[in-house]
Amino acid sequence: MFELGLHQFEPFKEKKGETYMGPRMLAHFFAILMDWKKSLMTEVDRTVSYMKDEANNFPDPVDRATQEEEFSLELRTRDRERKLIRKIDQSLAEIKSEDYGYCHSCGIEIGLRRLEARPTATLCIDCKTLDEIKEKQLYS
Ligand SMILES: [Zn+2]
Repeated sequence: MFELGLHQFEPFKEKKGETYMGPRMLAHFFAILMDWKKSLMTEVDRTVSYMKDEANNFPDPVDRATQEEEFSLELRTRDRERKLIRKIDQSLAEIKSEDYGYCHSCGIEIGLRRLEARPTATLCIDCKTLDEIKEKQLYS
């Protein structure tokens, strides 16, 4: 078992000689991504309705300032979640077109275990590492 956010999944058990990203594997990742997306969307909905209920409930300016701070923190978190949902959607589209699971940079298999840990990964571990090194050089 491994954990992805709030959810737990059974790791995929490969059959002998099973093709990488065959129908069973694609279905496995499709289910993980859909589940993940659903829980993120519930989270986003909950915040929006909470903020509607709570807004303007505090006449005291100090309370209101605290509340606004809370809201902006919430909004940043939601923003991250929305971006994540977009990435999940991209991965879901790749599953449908059967392009999922291959490195966008060099084309090799990203690998089951890496994808189970990060289902939205689009780079293999080598390209990802290289990417991070380049980024560090760019911004240091
Ligand atoms: Zn690669």
